[in-house]
Amino acid sequence: MTQEEINIDHLRELDKKYFLHPTTSIKQHQANGPSVIFTEGKGIYLKDVKGDTYIDGLSSLWNVNIGHGREEIVDVISEQMKKLAYSSTFQNFSHEPVIQLSEKIASLTPGDLNVSFYTSGGSESNETAFKLVRHYWKLKGKEKRTKIIALERGYHGITMGATSATGITPFQNMATANAPDFFHAKPFQLNCELGDKVDANYPRSIRGIIEKEGSETVAAVILEPVQGAGGINIPPDGYLQAVRKLCDEYGILMIADEVICGFGRTGKMFGVDNWNVVPDVMSVAKGITSAYIQLGAVIITERLRDELAEISTDVLFHGFTYSGHPSACAAALKNIEIIETENLVANAKNMEDELLKGFQYLEEKHSIVTKTRAKGLMGAFELFVDRDSGTPFDPSALAAPKVIQECFKRKLIARPVVFEGSNIITIAPPLIANKQEIEKIIVILSDSITAFEKQI
Ligand code: PMP
Repeated sequence: MTQEEINIDHLRELDKKYFLHPTTSIKQHQANGPSVIFTEGKGIYLKDVKGDTYIDGLSSLWNVNIGHGREEIVDVISEQMKKLAYSSTFQNFSHEPVIQLSEKIASLTPGDLNVSFYTSGGSESNETAFKLVRHYWKLKGKEKRTKIIALERGYHGITMGATSATGITPFQNMATANAPDFFHAKPFQLNCELGDKVDANYPRSIRGIIEKEGSETVAAVILEPVQGAGGINIPPDGYLQAVRKLCDEYGILMIADEVICGFGRTGKMFGVDNWNVVPDVMSVAKGITSAYIQLGAVIITERLRDELAEISTDVLFHGFTYSGHPSACAAALKNIEIIETENLVANAKNMEDELLKGFQYLEEKHSIVTKTRAKGLMGAFELFVDRDSGTPFDPSALAAPKVIQECFKRKLIARPVVFEGSNIITIAPPLIANKQEIEKIIVILSDSITAFEKQI
């Protein structure tokens, strides 16, 4: 063993002993330790302690939108930290980066979504959104409006409210009791949302749930414009508009969870922009700083803010210690500047075509590949034993995880989504990815699928 190998082994042992990993099997981690220990990032690539280079095919956690190793962001954070690393925004205190960022966000968001509240991430943003909408209804004298309707396969985070809104059952099943008043509708029941009561799925639609529970008890509907962690599920055209209309019909607030979609991921600045829908509340995080430092926000309409101001002079009893962290706000401003000056939103849109072309090639070459889809640089396809008859793989075949393992061997990081019989491969590289890099990803995917096909 070389000294380097001994050092890596030591690191792996320390990791196993002292570090509890998120969304990781504790048992498997105790047996195997970390699969990789990263040391560097540049562009769409990550390097590990052994010196191997990986393509970051999921932008880490769908968040490194401008790519790794951007020194401009490091410089801005460093300058801000030297000047004013932190100050509070409680009790009307403010600072320049938070003011500038709020103005910038307002210039990008649709409609009059012009007022930002800051958090440290997506879960906190959604948690805040739920509390804000309930607070709003309470002040309006409609205390009964507490219920939140979300979608099955939606992901909204892991704090209590956010977990309860999440429609991916393994997350909900982790603890014994979720928060009350969260409901899950079957996604994309366009006809039902438009009012087709004869449809068999009507009771499970958002409209069906509203009618069953009573619209006077519903505070808000929350949904991702394109579902991310649930397998990159793109709604049919007209769906988001139908939900907006439905919310308006019943006076219910609409929350768009833009934590993944926001800041260019779908080929528009925000996911809702693909369908020209303006929600009442928008949650963002991830791409707001491209993950250089933690930040999230809840953006509400001026109308909502003005109504809240009009009804009550009370203190808004909600705020995180790190709400509007100056260094994070400075990083966000620089990150947004890079997204704009490098035309990364347009690049994501252009690369959607490359991704779809690549997926089409995979579909032609591999009989197990089907259901290819992409919105901007958010793409997925599915694996079926027999795609013509729609016969899924037996769960014991571990189809998607094994393909992802083969990708990993070939130095591509992607994510499998496996539940309720589906085997989905999801891809979401940084928004700086070019044609050649997308082609590289497709070649590795194809080789990995071939390797899996040989195993079955
Ligand atoms: N909403 C969506 C759509 C997400 O994808 C995520 C994170 N993957 C969250 C909320 C939660 O964000 P965080 O992990 O920053 O709390």
